[in-house]
Amino acid sequence: MSEIDALKAQLESLQSEALSAFSAVADLAGLQQLRVQYLGKKGALTEVLKGVGKLAPEQRPVIGQFVNQTKSVLSQALDAAEAELSIHAKVARIEAERIDVSLPGRASAKGALHPVQRGLDEITAIFSQMGFAVAEGPEIENEFNNFDALNIPPEHPARAMHDTFFVNPIGDEPMLLRTHTSPVQIRAMKRFLAEEGEPPLAVVAPGRVYRCDYDVTHSPMFHQVEVFKVDRDVSMAHLKGVLKHFLSTYFEKDVSIRLRPHYFPFTEPSAEVDIGCVFCAGKGCRICKNSGWIEVLGSGMIHPNVLKSVGIDSEEFSGFAFGLGVERLVMLKQGIPDLRMFFENDVRFLRRMGS
Ligand SMILES: [Zn+2]
Repeated sequence: MSEIDALKAQLESLQSEALSAFSAVADLAGLQQLRVQYLGKKGALTEVLKGVGKLAPEQRPVIGQFVNQTKSVLSQALDAAEAELSIHAKVARIEAERIDVSLPGRASAKGALHPVQRGLDEITAIFSQMGFAVAEGPEIENEFNNFDALNIPPEHPARAMHDTFFVNPIGDEPMLLRTHTSPVQIRAMKRFLAEEGEPPLAVVAPGRVYRCDYDVTHSPMFHQVEVFKVDRDVSMAHLKGVLKHFLSTYFEKDVSIRLRPHYFPFTEPSAEVDIGCVFCAGKGCRICKNSGWIEVLGSGMIHPNVLKSVGIDSEEFSGFAFGLGVERLVMLKQGIPDLRMFFENDVRFLRRMGS
């Protein structure tokens, strides 16, 4: 066989080998590899061209034409294959990205208020509806508002019982995390007197308080609501009426209440307030320790010294005050056995309480 015929045969077999490779390739990356493999600078066709140098000069244009023809057949075949693969790739991508609108949706979890916050809002709203103005005070207090003004002088044993967290003083003034919401009573009375001149005033003050204590029934941070009213001729009867209305509204039933004499420095006389057990209707159970009664809050008539500390004439005006523990009331209403459940952030508990 002559050199030229051998080259022609070589080109023919190269072309048919390439064409069948093009039609077998599965993706664009593979096709690009084949383009380099056959038509690239170091590709198969270039290899064949190296043999052209051995031919007689007059034969070279003949084989050159043949090479060009092969090259153009291969590039056309490559372009056609590329167009087809591009369409396939596009179809595959659309299929992969297709959204199945018939699939059921994923429900997103709805948030809810923490049970303590809900209790706080609920309790505040009941007093607000009775005409009490809502007041708030800072959680970092001075000793005067937290103790002195509330008739708890420095040597008073009640100071020790409050397990106070002290913070950095401001100048010479000792500062602390308020141990109860009662200092709001002092702040609200002072502000009210400056603005209005004299009572009547009725205030509900919800908020966080702090004591250095932790067990089943105590948390170092908990919530109180302070309620007080000052006017002419305010008596224990008003106190009892407001308590009865509040507790019956909160527990959504007609609860019986009783006042037991007690001692608080900031009220005189003072009384602890019990409600008829909401679990056994007074018959006696584990929660009420078989007494039929549950203690819910402390109350009394505002001590004349407290009124004096803010400049209210205790001969002319009197008032009642009480403070209640929000966690305790929520526990009683919702049947929650352990105070710490409020603060452990167990999502199962919060979900159950939030729904
Ligand atoms: Zn009971």
